[in-house]
Amino acid sequence: MKRLRRQKTCEVTYDPITGQDRILELTQEESVLSDQGSVDSESLSRKYFRNCGCDGPVGGQCNKCGAISCTSCHGRCHRCKKPICLEHSHFLQVQGKDAIRFCHRHYIMQCWKNAILFCLLLVGRFFLSLMVEEENDE
Ligand SMILES: [Zn+2]
Ligand SMILES: [Zn+2]
Ligand SMILES: [Zn+2]
Repeated sequence: MKRLRRQKTCEVTYDPITGQDRILELTQEESVLSDQGSVDSESLSRKYFRNCGCDGPVGGQCNKCGAISCTSCHGRCHRCKKPICLEHSHFLQVQGKDAIRFCHRHYIMQCWKNAILFCLLLVGRFFLSLMVEEENDE
């Protein structure tokens, strides 16, 4: 077997976080002349995904685990604005609105706040109903 040609193609993207080119895809191609006289080509493609599993442009780096996510997976906490990956994001669904992204700490805080607000609402309704009942008694 005689090697005729070897080709290496590398597709990269500039990564603003590391300041270096990040490999997206690496293709190695080899053409050989076989003993039978045919030219055989073999190519191997290797894809390098982001930590989130996508191959889109870089969105940012998580402040918790250091994972680099693409723009659609990466986000920031609604409260402290710290960058977080999908794995460390907690979403709070608000009716009629898009889900809000929080870091773990602020998600817990927001849950408590919502629970307290809900209790206040219940207590408020309770007193309101008492007042309405009293009015009806007269
Ligand atoms: Zn992604
Ligand atoms: Zn993370
Ligand atoms: Zn936060």
